[in-house]
Amino acid sequence: MHELSIAVSMVEMAAEEAARHGGVRVKAIHLKLGPLSGVVKEALLFSYDVACEGTPLAGSRLVVEEMPVVVYCNVCRAERPLASIQYFCCPICDTATPEVRCGKELEVVALEIE
Ligand SMILES: [Zn+2]
Repeated sequence: MHELSIAVSMVEMAAEEAARHGGVRVKAIHLKLGPLSGVVKEALLFSYDVACEGTPLAGSRLVVEEMPVVVYCNVCRAERPLASIQYFCCPICDTATPEVRCGKELEVVALEIE
């Protein structure tokens, strides 16, 4: 499972970071996730709990901030949020908009420690 390897590497990264700060406890990992990242949020949350077991991060939470898909429309010359990722067209003028500006995120933005 793709999500499990992502979760394992996030947990390892956070555990290393916690150790570097003198063994603080990580309460939560905050993650930005775009719909085009190829990662399913529910699967990632489930994998996270599995990945934490038996590590210093056991009992911590994964907080996922879901990002919108934003494309750039050449006709409007503006960034537009997409209503659906099935339909890559500008919601205002209906032009096909292949240029994705936002929505592929898979990045850890913060570690909550105590
Ligand atoms: Zn447009």
